[in-house]
Amino acid sequence: MLKVILQGHDKFYGITDIVRMFFGDISEDRDNSCVTAGDGPDLTLVNTLEKDGRSFTFTSDGGRRYEFDGPAIEPGREVKRSLYMALSDITGIKMPWGCLSGIRPTLVASEEGSEADLTGKYLVREDKAALGFETAKEENRLLGFIPPEDLNIYVGVPFCPSRCSYCSFISQDISHHMKRLGEYGNALENEIRTLAPFITRKISSLYMGGGTPTVFDDAQFASILDCIFWNLKIDKDCEVTIEAGRPDTITISKLDAMRAHGIGRICINPQTMRDETLQKLGRRHSVADVIRAYEQAAERGFDVINMDLIAGLPYETGDDFVRSVKRLIELGPANITVHTLYKKRRANMSRETVLDRDDGRGDVDAAVREGYRLLYEAGYHPYYLYRQKDTGHGLENTGFAKGDTGCLYNVAMMSDARDVLSFGAGGMSKRCFEQEGSSSKHRVERCPTVKDVLTYIELSGEAARRKAAFFEL
Ligand code: SF4
Repeated sequence: MLKVILQGHDKFYGITDIVRMFFGDISEDRDNSCVTAGDGPDLTLVNTLEKDGRSFTFTSDGGRRYEFDGPAIEPGREVKRSLYMALSDITGIKMPWGCLSGIRPTLVASEEGSEADLTGKYLVREDKAALGFETAKEENRLLGFIPPEDLNIYVGVPFCPSRCSYCSFISQDISHHMKRLGEYGNALENEIRTLAPFITRKISSLYMGGGTPTVFDDAQFASILDCIFWNLKIDKDCEVTIEAGRPDTITISKLDAMRAHGIGRICINPQTMRDETLQKLGRRHSVADVIRAYEQAAERGFDVINMDLIAGLPYETGDDFVRSVKRLIELGPANITVHTLYKKRRANMSRETVLDRDDGRGDVDAAVREGYRLLYEAGYHPYYLYRQKDTGHGLENTGFAKGDTGCLYNVAMMSDARDVLSFGAGGMSKRCFEQEGSSSKHRVERCPTVKDVLTYIELSGEAARRKAAFFEL
């Protein structure tokens, strides 16, 4: 078992993040100032923070000592860097993003201002430093189109026709909850109607996501769109995106309902263009369904179609992933988002399955690099990027866009610099305040909505009133 003793600091969060990059079965013992990894080597490391703000990590027998020979960084990052150096040396594994463990490496790129700083100070690999820096510039450019005084709206539908094996977002008890879908739609409309009269701020972007918002039947889907557009007074300048993730839920009637409101952005997410993988993941649709849905949406004039892929899926190799990228490039959607499989706590798929490097999937990192190369070659560029805990192989999720088609909502939401009002169960509303004298330019206050859909159905009016108070409407 690996044990990391914290000396001179209590930065458990960052230390745990670094240990988690390399090992699982993590636990924190705050009384004894240590973090352990049950599947790590039998070794004790001491991670220090000195009075001068520098950190070093050493083996408890004094045999090895790790200290960065270069510019100091903020203390919370110093302790992570020296521990990363130790664990990287002990395991022989270098992470693509070096000692950056946060979900938004583009924020660090913006703060630092050069690729050389990312590689030099944070040990980020050169290709990731270039990606982070380029994406940060595009994120900041797009953020400039979203006035800070505007609201951005999220409408959440946490239901899907079946549960993908890698997903923990949707409840295990999906079949039981599906019986309450109609009531959920009514509750959502109730929350929107209750809060809408108090909203006077302009709405820059609206994103209806999930789950799968197109899981509703045709009539209820159209009714919810009507409720959103009429009550929230969505104008033609507002960017509206509907996540129609599962192609088996997309009908001509729903596409027409969206177009009738002028909606031009839709997400149709295959995750892979390989039928065998789709079946094994429990997605209950085929590649032919994806292509049919894409063509129907394109024929109806949706000018920005986003398609998501996941790299590192089990049941397929890196070559399969690259073939999926090529198939999507042939189809030609305006946006392609490349995710790397990551492990969430309650997914059916185990952490070992997600992170295992030796199970025949090949080199996921190399496959992602080849996928990116093909996307650049086809005229796409990265416009937003984020990472998740336990992302396989230490990689990232990157949204690519052709021309000026990047999704403003995605940028607003990830920036933590724009307010987001979230309707629906499990939504997280947030207000962002500028602040001086901190490494983070914004302070964020959050207002969660109850996750349990049955409780939400009962209390959607109450959820609206809480948000009115939170936003001081
Ligand atoms: S479609 Fe998305 S939200 Fe729904 S079960 Fe699959 S991964 Fe989860």
